[in-house]
Formats: sequence, structure tokens, C-alpha cells
Amino acid sequence: GKILVTGANGYIAVWVVQNLLEQGFSVRGTVRSEEKGTHLKEIFKSYGDKLELVVVEDITKDGAFDEAVKGVDAIEHTASPFHFNAVDPQELIVPAVHGTTSVLASAAKYGQDVKRVIVLSSCASVIEPSAQPRTFDENNWNEWSIKEVETKGKDAGNAEKYRASKTLAEKAAWAFYEKNKASLSWDLVVLNPPFVFGPVLHAVDSSASLGTSAGDWYKTVLEGSKDEKTLVTFGSAWIDVRDLARAHVLALIKQEASENRIIVSAGPFVWQDWINVARKLYPDAGIPAGNQSFSSTNFAYPVNYDTSRATRLLGLTYRTQEELTRDSIELFKQKGWW
Ligand code: NDP
Repeated sequence: GKILVTGANGYIAVWVVQNLLEQGFSVRGTVRSEEKGTHLKEIFKSYGDKLELVVVEDITKDGAFDEAVKGVDAIEHTASPFHFNAVDPQELIVPAVHGTTSVLASAAKYGQDVKRVIVLSSCASVIEPSAQPRTFDENNWNEWSIKEVETKGKDAGNAEKYRASKTLAEKAAWAFYEKNKASLSWDLVVLNPPFVFGPVLHAVDSSASLGTSAGDWYKTVLEGSKDEKTLVTFGSAWIDVRDLARAHVLALIKQEASENRIIVSAGPFVWQDWINVARKLYPDAGIPAGNQSFSSTNFAYPVNYDTSRATRLLGLTYRTQEELTRDSIELFKQKGWW
């Protein structure tokens, strides 16, 4: 079959493309310009015409994907802005929401062969602030960030602007699906990953342009960019980008995944955990020690996710923090960035 991957040049998407090609699928990727596709063409040239790239300049336009969806068997929608630099929340919300509804509308209209659409959402649309350590599951929705952005507009926190964009986009996907379900040839699956870290395959020319999540990992773990308190108090969860890519393939082929939002997470972390893993693997490399008062034994991680649905429906297993750290650092060394 042929799979449409939107935003095919992104950090996560390139790994999705790689996994699909490796599994024998053909891929049609969308990019915003011809130029953004050159690196993809280069790294996947051994696959020949199994990889096709099309330019979709503005994903928010009605009908943007009308041509792109023709003749594909499924869609993996990953294109969405991921950064914390927006002033007006609409800078993120408009492409997140309209990009999603636009691809779904095109799939409804012209995607006669489409059997499944997978939307890459985020744990950003699940999590809400909590004073106590908490375990979230797929029943949880991040109403908080939406309210923050509604009431504070440009003065809302940068993380809230991004999280609101992801929550609104996912809600729009489910709303479109519920409304049109009876006449669709396809079903919807949504994947909700937390922080995504691990090696990069996309076009990156220096450690400074690694992207939001992999760049944060590099700066925090290898350059010691965070203060000692943040290292042991900011808690979240993580998944290796290669496992998330595999989840995209599993979400495509597992019938049982139908109509589910699925949290895919390898486990919780505080940043000091990554520093400790890296220093253990590379004891003589001068990796900044961070906060050595931290012990993970009996530590109540602030943010946890129930991942039983991913295990049950996808059979997803996860790489370890050691594998992710080693493979990332070996790549950085090979590139001459570290
Ligand atoms: P990247 O920035 O590497 O990729 C984003 C992709 O979306 C690129 O192809 C980019 O195109 C495209 N895109 C961004 N803004 C627009 C826009 N306005 N119009 C059209 N295309 C756009 O980020 P990631 O790979 O990390 O993220 C991909 C997806 O995964 C996003 O939906 C993000 O929300 C989600 N996610 C990421 C997590 C992470 O930790 N990385 C965690 C959870 C979810 P271009 O290169 O042309 O800008």
C-alpha cells in the first residue's frame, strides 16, 4: 500500500517514513517546498520511486490536500508547529487545527482508497497541572491550556499556547470523525506521545538546529543548560523517536487500534536521570554532573502515563534510556557536534 505522510521532513516524520519504507510500504510525503525534500530524497534514494514527495505550501487552506490524498491507502498526519516562540497563540492554533481538519476533509472527499487516518497528537492534549504526582490516561483532556489561552491570549505561557494548539487540533479531529463517520471509508487513530528524544535523521546541520525536543535534550544533558532545581523537579515522560515511528506503523496495521487515542510513553523522567545515564555510559567525557543529590529510588515522579492501551492494542515495546542516550551521543560524535 501507499501511505501519505504530512510534514515528511520533520524530526519524527522522517523516522516514520523510514519505518514505512522498511516495512515495504510506498510513501508519499508532503513538504512545504521542493527544497525541504532534497535531504529525504538523498537518504532514501535506495528505495527509488517507493518514496514520492509532493509540495503542499499552505496546509491551512481548504482543499490543500485534495491532490495528495488521491490513491493513498492511509494517512499519517504529523505536520504541526512545535516550538515555544509564539507570541499570538493563533500562530500555533491555526496551522494545528486547520492543518488537521484540512487533511481530514480532503481524505473524506477524495481519499476513496483511504482506510485509516492516524493523527499525531501529543500528551500535551492529555496533561493538566497537578500539585501531586499524577498518572494520566486516555480519558484525560487538557482543558486547562485551552482556558489559559482563551483568558490570557498573548500573555498565556508559551507551553500553554503549544499545548492548546495540540488539544484543539485533536478535538477537531475527533469532532470531524464523529460527524462524518457514517460516510467515511476510513477510521481514525490518534497517537499521544510525551517528550520525543533520540537520534535525528532529518536535515540538521548543527546541534543548535536539532529541533525543540532533541535540542533541549542535547543542551540539558551535554551542555548543562538547566539549573540544579529544575533538573530534579521538572518531571515529564519520554519515548524514543524510533519507537514512536514504529507505533505509527503498528497503528496502521493493527485493526484493534481503530477509533482509539493511544498514549505511547516509555516512562517518566526528571532531567537528572538523563544526566546520570549519560555520565555512566561516558564517565570520562566531562558531562556536567548536574544535581547529584537526586536519587530515583522511591522518587515519586510528578507526571506518569498509563500505557496499558498501547500495550494491549499495539503491542508496543520501548527502548531504554541507555539505548537512547548511547545512540544519540554516538550520532552527535559522528557528526562532530560533541
Ligand atoms: P518538527 O518541527 O521537526 O516537524 C514539524 C513538521 O511540521 C515539519 O515538517 C514542519 O514543516 C511541519 N510544520 C510546522 N509548522 C507548519 C505549518 N505552519 N504549516 C505546514 N507545516 C508545518 O517537529 P517534530 O517532528 O518534533 O513534531 C512533529 C509532530 O509531533 C508535531 O505535531 C508535534 O506537535 C508532535 N509532537 C512532538 C513531540 C516532540 O517531543 N518532538 C512530542 C509530542 C508530539 P517545516 O519543516 O516546513 O517547518
